[in-house]
Amino acid sequence: MTSGKLADKVAVVTGASKGIGAAIARALGAEGASVVVNYASSRADAERVVDSILASGGKAIAVQADVSQSSDVARPFEAALAAFGRLDILVNNAGIYQGAMLSDITEELFHRHFNLNVLGLILATQEAAKRMGANGGSIVNTSSVLSTLSLPGNGVYNATKSAVDGLTRTFAKELAPRKIRVNSVNPGLVETEGLHATGGMQHRDHMAMITPLGRIGQPTDISPGVVFLCSDDSGWMTGESLYLTGGLR
Ligand code: NAP
Repeated sequence: MTSGKLADKVAVVTGASKGIGAAIARALGAEGASVVVNYASSRADAERVVDSILASGGKAIAVQADVSQSSDVARPFEAALAAFGRLDILVNNAGIYQGAMLSDITEELFHRHFNLNVLGLILATQEAAKRMGANGGSIVNTSSVLSTLSLPGNGVYNATKSAVDGLTRTFAKELAPRKIRVNSVNPGLVETEGLHATGGMQHRDHMAMITPLGRIGQPTDISPGVVFLCSDDSGWMTGESLYLTGGLR
């Protein structure tokens, strides 16, 4: 028996080797959940996240899977059942973003974004729903403030996150009879490895200026909201979007 808000729960966090997903995995582990830390290619980063959860007295394993591939996506969920015996929580966090103005949008960019941010979320949700038990569970989707805040140069990414909000509302209604709640967190700009890699940090000062609380976010600004949505504290909440943006809308 472990203690914490998520004691004895089992969670899969997709895209948990870096950034927001890594902070979410650590926060769920700190609240007593056993965590499957999913990654696509960064095994060493995923193992570092696992090690930090183990060092704090939690339980975690790293499992590779490209969640946009139907041939891969079951693996983290099978591993959750094999290692920990049940599944209670899915955080659909894996996602990519690359800015492009209308004239620069290519079919490749469109499919790359929709295959992971939208299809990957659907495939992972199917796998989770199959395995959650009679007590239900909680699914949290990492959306974005950009699902509703339309800034130039982000058309395809914005569209994927608008789709995430729509799927959140629809799957919440479909899965409610099984006591599976589905909500999203919608972060503002957050400093992550991905943001650095895609040049997003060049927007830091402007985004901080238009953010009422005056700064961009850190991954640990997002993870407590996910813990809330995974715990019984949000037990009568489903189909909602929790904006964590420093007031930016
Ligand atoms: P990040 O630093 O780039 O990390 C992305 C994570 O996703 C990594 O763990 C990566 O694993 C994993 N991943 C990539 N492709 C995958 C695939 N096909 N299958 C499984 N995992 C995959 O990203 P982030 O900035 O933390 O963003 C995480 C989520 O938050 C995304 O959904 C993003 O859209 C959303 N978000 C980010 C911000 C922001 O400003 N950073 C704001 C709003 C919303 P590998 O390392 O193994 O590749």
